[in-house]
Amino acid sequence: MAEATALTRLAERLRSFPARPGTKIMEVCGTHTVAIRRSGLQHLLPAGVKLVSGPGCPVCVTPDRFIDEAVALARQGVVVTSFGDMLRVPGSRSSLEKERAAGADIRAVYSPLDALKIANESGKETVFLAVGFETTAPAIAATALKALEKKISNFSLLTALRLVPPALQALIAGDTRLSGFLLPGHVSAVIGRQAYDFLLQQRLPGVISGFTAEDIISSLLLLLEMYNKDIYMVMNNYPRVVRDSGNEKSRTVLAEVFEPVDAEWRGLGAIPASGLQLKPTFAALDSRHRFVIRAESASPRKNCRCGDVLRGLIDPPACPLFNKACRPDRPLGPCMVSSEGSCSAWVTYG
Ligand code: SF4
Repeated sequence: MAEATALTRLAERLRSFPARPGTKIMEVCGTHTVAIRRSGLQHLLPAGVKLVSGPGCPVCVTPDRFIDEAVALARQGVVVTSFGDMLRVPGSRSSLEKERAAGADIRAVYSPLDALKIANESGKETVFLAVGFETTAPAIAATALKALEKKISNFSLLTALRLVPPALQALIAGDTRLSGFLLPGHVSAVIGRQAYDFLLQQRLPGVISGFTAEDIISSLLLLLEMYNKDIYMVMNNYPRVVRDSGNEKSRTVLAEVFEPVDAEWRGLGAIPASGLQLKPTFAALDSRHRFVIRAESASPRKNCRCGDVLRGLIDPPACPLFNKACRPDRPLGPCMVSSEGSCSAWVTYG
């Protein structure tokens, strides 16, 4: 009861906050997008404030070319393993779901260790689709080390790992005019508050937030207060999980296995040092070294505006296909496939 009252008070503070007209906040993380819309927090925004989604859904930012490579591997008879969401993402001409229906050995797994187990038990060439941000990458790095330790030589990684700070820098340099960032809680637990210090030079406030309604409302209030007063700081409003310097153990395993590489993002294009690739000493675990991958490509999908959604330029309903030709039960673009995709969250939660 007391909690509900505290939440009601916070909600009222947000609703009546005297915000600057034209304030535009980006929630970077797909989990925040879902949490906000599921709790209906968008209805509490004060006059003059707009909340837009960012590039924080890993499935959404992964370019078509990656799916094309995975499809090509599956057609070569390799066992392709992946988190479930990736299976439905359309590539240029096919998807992993369609390839599976056509007989390819494609399996949804819950963790990279499950994929390693499949490789070990089946003895077949097994590829894990390494997709995700700083949150997912340490477990994948640990799995790579385990594969070497156990001498499981038929396991490899097709990587499309992405780093959040370079994407935010690219957004700031681009045409999205923002007033501040609601920063991702899980990614920040690995990289720490200090990883966003570049926001200070850009005169943009940022608040690292947890995922409860109370976390998000209090983080939005902090952001709006800073923006109103021209205070440019990165605040950690999720101290029960995030430390200033992040998680050193996770970063150490990442640095042991991966190195930064220029990477392509849907909507944002190529961003310097925004991806992770296996270091040369781990080349035996790199699917692109193990196999000749002849990926089919096609011209980009017409009308899907997922890239503009990911840059915070439009809301999903501005896409002409939204909830008509493209719906969660038959998605045409990745922002509708992933449960963390903005288009999917808008349809599911309104
Ligand atoms: S509604 Fe579908 S087609 Fe439109 S931007 Fe979203 S994912 Fe792309």
